[in-house]
Amino acid sequence: MRERAAMWGFSILFGSAVLGSILLGGMEPGTKPVMASGDTASLAVLMYHQVTGDPARIGDYVVTAQQFSSDLTALLLAGYTAVSVDDVLAFAEGEGDLPPKPVLITFDDGYETFIAEIYPILCETKTPCVLSLVGKYTDFYSCAEDQSLSYACLNWDEVEELAASPYVEIANHSYALHQMAEGERRGALPLEGEAEDEYRAFLANDLTSCNRCIQERTGKEVRVFAYPYGLYTDVTCDVVENLGFSMLLTCEERVNTLHRGEELKPLGRFNRSGNLSTEEVLQKIEPEK
Ligand SMILES: [Zn+2]
Repeated sequence: MRERAAMWGFSILFGSAVLGSILLGGMEPGTKPVMASGDTASLAVLMYHQVTGDPARIGDYVVTAQQFSSDLTALLLAGYTAVSVDDVLAFAEGEGDLPPKPVLITFDDGYETFIAEIYPILCETKTPCVLSLVGKYTDFYSCAEDQSLSYACLNWDEVEELAASPYVEIANHSYALHQMAEGERRGALPLEGEAEDEYRAFLANDLTSCNRCIQERTGKEVRVFAYPYGLYTDVTCDVVENLGFSMLLTCEERVNTLHRGEELKPLGRFNRSGNLSTEEVLQKIEPEK
């Protein structure tokens, strides 16, 4: 962790031409971040979605790669260190440290643009991230002719390639529950009047299907689940928790307080809207004093 965290800083420092002289008076290149020694840690989690090369398409769920790059640079300058799922879990299990200002980067929905626009930046800056897939979309775009970068999702060959990277953790975002159409199930929520036992079986089956698809193609255990649209009930949580995920991602906008050696609670995340400036994003994730 220590070595990787230091390299994250080092790579951004030297990989980004925009930084210029700002950094020279700041931190020494290659300086290892000081690890927090306490039993609690504040973890900010950022949630990105679609990426566009066309600034006219920027929106609440669409950013440009330049915005992402700018966020990484600003996070580094503000003293943050991007951490991996392994780092967070090790702390929660009482076996590892986290740096003083850890941040977890997440990308939802598995858009096709991730591999061309974001993955090279992650590799260049050695930044770990979580990529949450909807199994049905990945199945569909593995054989669809229409591969428009406006909405297409990654295919399984690409997911396999990404999963082999040390910087990408593939997560479950449901097999087929990423929908909000009128009269249909909203995300992973129960239908009105749906019998609880039927709902439990339905939900467990959907999430297990997505796990199975990912495991078959990547050979890796699925440790993270992101609630579609952040929607859940107590029963949803109970089903999800029984499936044995190590980390759950919600859409509640808050900084998380982690306790060393204590089970990880569902993590709040801040949506990185493309309509915000990098400075506004940083303001959002600063823990309240
Ligand atoms: Zn989503």
